Amino acid sequence: MTTPDSARSDFIRDIITGDVKTGKYGGKVYTRFPPEPNGYLHIGHAKSICLNFGIAKDFKGLCNLRFDDTNPTKEEVEYVESIKKDVRWLGFDWEDRLFYASDYFEQMCRYAVQIIKMGKAYVCDLSADEIREYRGTLTEPGKDSPYRNRSVEENLDLFERMRAGEFPDGSRTLRAKIDMKSGNINMRDPVIYRIMHMPHHRTGDKWCIYPMYDFAHCISDSIEGITHSICTLEFEDHRPLYDWFLDELEVDCHPKQIEFARLNLSHTVLSKRKLIKLVEDGNVTGWDDPRMPTIAGLRRRGYTPEAVRNFCERIGVSKRDNLVDISLLEYCIREDLNKRAPRVMVVLHSLRVVIVNYPEEKTEELEAINNPEDATMGTRKIPFSRVLYIEQEDFQEAPPKQFFRLVPGREVRLRYAYFIKCVDVIKDTNTGRIIELHCTYDPETRGGNAPDGRKVKATLHWVSASHAVDAEVRLYDYLFLKADPTDIEEGKDFKSHINPNSLEILKSCRVEPGLKGATQGDCYQFERLGYFCVDKDSSDNKLVFNRTVTLRDTWAKIEKKGKG
Ligand code: ATP
Ligand code: MG
Repeated sequence: MTTPDSARSDFIRDIITGDVKTGKYGGKVYTRFPPEPNGYLHIGHAKSICLNFGIAKDFKGLCNLRFDDTNPTKEEVEYVESIKKDVRWLGFDWEDRLFYASDYFEQMCRYAVQIIKMGKAYVCDLSADEIREYRGTLTEPGKDSPYRNRSVEENLDLFERMRAGEFPDGSRTLRAKIDMKSGNINMRDPVIYRIMHMPHHRTGDKWCIYPMYDFAHCISDSIEGITHSICTLEFEDHRPLYDWFLDELEVDCHPKQIEFARLNLSHTVLSKRKLIKLVEDGNVTGWDDPRMPTIAGLRRRGYTPEAVRNFCERIGVSKRDNLVDISLLEYCIREDLNKRAPRVMVVLHSLRVVIVNYPEEKTEELEAINNPEDATMGTRKIPFSRVLYIEQEDFQEAPPKQFFRLVPGREVRLRYAYFIKCVDVIKDTNTGRIIELHCTYDPETRGGNAPDGRKVKATLHWVSASHAVDAEVRLYDYLFLKADPTDIEEGKDFKSHINPNSLEILKSCRVEPGLKGATQGDCYQFERLGYFCVDKDSSDNKLVFNRTVTLRDTWAKIEKKGKG
């Protein structure tokens, strides 16, 4: 007997534990992840992937990857490839169990014929609009189609001719004969097959009739011997239909459908339809734009599979819809990168500092710690010289009380280097803009500590001007200003909440020389600034970084308080 392998517990695992105990499905646990290849996967899919593959792992079962490719209009090979890549990247393996619903078209068709022969399906000549009209509403029952009582022979003949391509698109459908007065609209003679003269990315021109989701999905599950068919809550009302088909067909394997609440994440959208719109309308640069909640976007942004999996574990699964704050996702990536990202010094908005008492030609190599969280990551040498860059916002000429960083006459520490004191502020005589600072350094404070024990209130990051390497840095903010962008006023759409400032590009940042040669995907903590990774646009002569996530900036907080 199998019991779950991990300490994880949730209502789905509880149901499965129960089924395993009673020996339902012979004690086996078999799940599947069934994406429709009509877009890239997003973080909501990651939740479903972690759940399905995770359960299979916990119960020593199996999980299939199955493309739910029953709709030829929207599906593309590019999506199939991206989905495989993303599932693998997340760390899951379907081994030799990669399936396509389209592989079962022949079997589905045989099942359709079987249902017709049982007198439980009919060919209907109503148009899509008429079918909708006849269907009724939540409060009104539907009306029987005038074609509902066709004979089995006529239905078999018409269905055969539908398949043979005799009829134009939309002229006829095959419908299950269930109950037009059912309280559940899904049970009001749902369409099983529709006519579409359209080539399919796998079956080519072989078919001109295509099965509907509700029919195709339960049959695919059954054919694959799935035991627990886990899906999101919007399919709860479809479960009676799922069960109806499988009961009527008397299949050997009748999986249990279990629904859970889909992930909603604040300040973004998790619907392929909306994500496609953002891509097509050029609001983002593509599916892998680092602002996108897609797996491809998160990967390019510098997220790790560990962080995404950890996030999915933390949010858990439940039956209630809710909105998860995106800061939890950010917390997970910070936690992961804190352990693994080497620290480096980078200046985003540079301010020149001349150490006036430092020899002109001298360069020193100072020792810096690569990761204070992990001693095994060792140390590195960074060059120090007379001309440096510090961050513009680390200096103020007329500071507020709470500002502890560099000001005229004050001493601060340069990380891993020396104490410096600002002795002069050089300005452009026309504009009054600060051009550079003149500072003195105290040679006794090498390494960042004063032998006389005197203290400073701030430690600044810096780079040596003549050694620094130029880089472009892309700063990202939330794609949407509103926590729930789908909450919209009449007449507007979700795009009315787009954040116009979700991307800021800094063209001339200065990074410490050791970063030269960094390659795509490498991630770093830029000290005091956040976590950054090398973007795919980076090349040998141009470094490009994405900001993955900021550090929790205590400075910003203190300064906000000071202002308020
Ligand atoms: P979308 O609404 O983004 O178009 P979908 O449900 O149409 O999503 P599918 O490709 O059919 O996308 O989804 C594959 C699986 O992922 C399904 O089992 C679906 O229930 C699940 N899934 C999709 N979105 C989410 C989400 N936000 N949270 C959890 N699971 C999800
Ligand atoms: Mg779907």
